Amino acid sequence: MQLRNIAIIAHVDHGKTTLVDQLLRQSGAFRDNQRVAERVMDSNDLEKERGITILAKATSVVWKDTRINIVDTPGHADFGGEVERILNMVDGAIVLVDAAEGPMPQTKFVVAKALKIGLKPIVAINKVDKPDARTTEVINEVFDLFAALDATDEQLDFPILYGSGKQGWMGTSPEADQSAGMAPLFDLVLKHVAQPTVEPGPFRMLATILEANPYLGRVLTGRISSGTLKPNMAIKALSRDGTVIEQGRVSKVLAFRGIERQPVEEAEAGDIVAIAGLTQGTVADTFAALEVTEPLQAQPIDPPTVSMTF
Ligand code: GDP
Repeated sequence: MQLRNIAIIAHVDHGKTTLVDQLLRQSGAFRDNQRVAERVMDSNDLEKERGITILAKATSVVWKDTRINIVDTPGHADFGGEVERILNMVDGAIVLVDAAEGPMPQTKFVVAKALKIGLKPIVAINKVDKPDARTTEVINEVFDLFAALDATDEQLDFPILYGSGKQGWMGTSPEADQSAGMAPLFDLVLKHVAQPTVEPGPFRMLATILEANPYLGRVLTGRISSGTLKPNMAIKALSRDGTVIEQGRVSKVLAFRGIERQPVEEAEAGDIVAIAGLTQGTVADTFAALEVTEPLQAQPIDPPTVSMTF
């Protein structure tokens, strides 16, 4: 299956939750999830149920046979380089801006990092239905922001969508055909964002987000850069200088499906997954097949932040 990995960048209240909810609904993800939930309930396997219904900070939708992983970027002040690490997993970003408020501190903070690592964002002006929307001015403010942050010509040439997450549509102008729903946004993501780069070779993944999960133990999320990963595989964690931190067996591979994470039997290079089973590997370590000796290049980071999932 084709893949796209994107981040959504937005100031609090600019409508990220509402937008993602619409993306899920319009791609049919909720229907799929409901079926999955029913199967889980049937199995009456409490442990399995708990493993499956963990809330994730990422979402995935399928559009025209392409899986789009959408990762959330924390908008709060970023200790420990978490925003950079997350942005390094994706190939594109949607900068969502309230049509009345314009770019705000959190927008600027994360956009600065996104531009610096070379992402070419899509700008989505949201809430154009508001009576106090000042759409044209806000576009200019976004352009000025990008320019002030030393955006390249290519980054300044950002595609723009306008719409209302609340009304469930995005289009290429504020007067666009609302009945198209979110299709213009999905199509633009497929067109504007690259398929993740995949390297040849055995399984390797840069661990990006660490969480202490009450049921699964230590869980590390990252993008697989090469090879495939399966549950029960023997892997190792390599620190940035190539030291072997530990060897162990993968107990679960979780992929993002709709609003949930689900255990999968196989995950492929390019996908963003969470791995359980190792006990010491951490953020910026490389998780890899046993024959791998060279770690992946990690961004310099401060000590990781541990996040609980509920
Ligand atoms: P988040 O903090 O970015 O996740 O924002 P939410 O999705 O929670 O939305 C914040 C508020 O804005 C809520 O009251 C939403 O109902 C409202 N909102 C979201 N999208 C729109 C929109 O397109 N138009 C209008 N008028 N309000 C919206």
